[in-house]
Amino acid sequence: MPWDARRLGGDSVLTDTHAHVQMHQFARDREDVIAAAFADGIARIVVPGIDLETSHAAVALAAAHPGRLFAGVGTHPHDAATLTAEALAGQRTLARAPGVVAIGEIGLDFYRNLSPRQTQLDALAAQLTLARELDLPVILHNRESHAEMLAMLREHGHGLRGVFHCFIGDKAMAQDALDLGFHLSFAGPVAFAKNVELAEVAAWAPAERILVETDSPYLTPPPFRGKRNEPRHVALVARRVAELRGLRFEELTELTTRNANTLFRLPDLQPQEGVTQHASL
Ligand SMILES: [Zn+2]
Ligand SMILES: [Zn+2]
Repeated sequence: MPWDARRLGGDSVLTDTHAHVQMHQFARDREDVIAAAFADGIARIVVPGIDLETSHAAVALAAAHPGRLFAGVGTHPHDAATLTAEALAGQRTLARAPGVVAIGEIGLDFYRNLSPRQTQLDALAAQLTLARELDLPVILHNRESHAEMLAMLREHGHGLRGVFHCFIGDKAMAQDALDLGFHLSFAGPVAFAKNVELAEVAAWAPAERILVETDSPYLTPPPFRGKRNEPRHVALVARRVAELRGLRFEELTELTTRNANTLFRLPDLQPQEGVTQHASL
């Protein structure tokens, strides 16, 4: 199917709640990618950092696209070793900048273990505390670390809100996240046919707790697998989730956009917000 056939309708708006468009994979054509997303009806993009440098870059992008792009400030579990006391202080300052809507992405990844487990746990605890201090939601990365994540949220996350980004667990794991008051965000994997358990979760999760995202440049959904992912492909994820829930596409976009606005406390979308400035990164 040509891309045109997948374009959103006139009034539909979608929010890609997780796209790393500040990263080097977009160095050559970043503004074109963002413009293509806007042209396809993606109203807003949340850009999470993975360390202090990419968090700064996310904040710069948010400043260049006010009201359209928003930033997360955080250190990813893969990069947990970079979260020194100094870097944490840098994050605390940066998180007060305009356009910052979350602490993230943060979390645990015991699948790839690119940082030692204890370093990941310490970095997560420090950033959950920072999110509580600043009253910001958290964007959580959680891979092969479900029990530890729940324990961390119970110990350090009291009163916190946030999202399990790229949720790929089963119903029991989803229920744990929901019980703690968290949202679930679906990405490319929900569109892969063999993911039966995940499809069940996407069909069953409470309407007011679901979000959609791309995790660009990763996790490209079909039919674009193997290529770099882009925010405009969030429409493919939304289409699949709508199908699973028996909703019209427009109903799903409205629902997930409203949920994103609530969770990240995004300002109302202004009709004239179509003109973009160019970021210098
Ligand atoms: Zn992640
Ligand atoms: Zn990510």
